[in-house]
Amino acid sequence: MTLTLDRIEIEGAGSDPVALARALLDQTPGLDGRVSIDEIARALDIVSIEIAPLFSIEACLQCDALKSHGQIVVNARSSPQRQRFSIGHELGHFLNERHVPSVADGFACSRRDMAAPEGEDRHIRQEREANAFAIEVLAPAHLLQAHLKPTPELDHVLAIAKRFEISREAAARRYVQCHRDCLAAVFSHDGKIRYVEKSEGFPSIVPWTNDPHGPLPAPPGDGSPLTGLDEVSAQGWLTYPDRSQLFAQTLYQREGHAITLLTVEQDDSTTEEIWAPPRFRR
Ligand SMILES: [Zn+2]
Repeated sequence: MTLTLDRIEIEGAGSDPVALARALLDQTPGLDGRVSIDEIARALDIVSIEIAPLFSIEACLQCDALKSHGQIVVNARSSPQRQRFSIGHELGHFLNERHVPSVADGFACSRRDMAAPEGEDRHIRQEREANAFAIEVLAPAHLLQAHLKPTPELDHVLAIAKRFEISREAAARRYVQCHRDCLAAVFSHDGKIRYVEKSEGFPSIVPWTNDPHGPLPAPPGDGSPLTGLDEVSAQGWLTYPDRSQLFAQTLYQREGHAITLLTVEQDDSTTEEIWAPPRFRR
């Protein structure tokens, strides 16, 4: 059965990407996991979705000035999970009335744009909003509660990635954004930081992009890629290392990539306050 969606009603939610995504989800009741993002895009005037090898960008949206219809191209060299995120991201540009094309015939988006765009200019703001739209549609907040239990662990990130068919990287960012604890997800390659996603209130971190990361838990001896959640030295990670205990869990991935989840505990916390947002200077 062909999916039918009311684009006018969705766009009536305005330019806030989360409101737009929720208006879309309101028209797709009964969701319990993987979102059919291709089908959704096609029901909203995306006339074609092509998979082609791309080198300088991760995906693009070709559309006319009025966005009456659009075509999305995603990178054939990326995983199906990344391709799904790319479709959601480009749909976020397409539906948002305030997003103005970044190139002559639409939007061209890099892998960096889709992970951790930095800066304050309009292009970066649009990229952030397209990401916020994509993840809200692909891993809806109302379906995440079961994965947000008090003790943060990367197992939950892996479960989110599998359930919603998104990349582990996107799942880790989503987990940090939605969990009530102060968390950080560190994405690294060959011992250097690619970028860090921090939740509101997480203490100030010393290393940044291209810097060596702080200490990680040792890889498990049994060949498993996932370590335990171990206490590690805050030296090399936190700007004020004496103020908190730091715990880390690392997922060692292929070709030198790793995802590390950081959690903190204040040394002077009471049992009741232990999961309250730490009051650190940023
Ligand atoms: Zn974009």
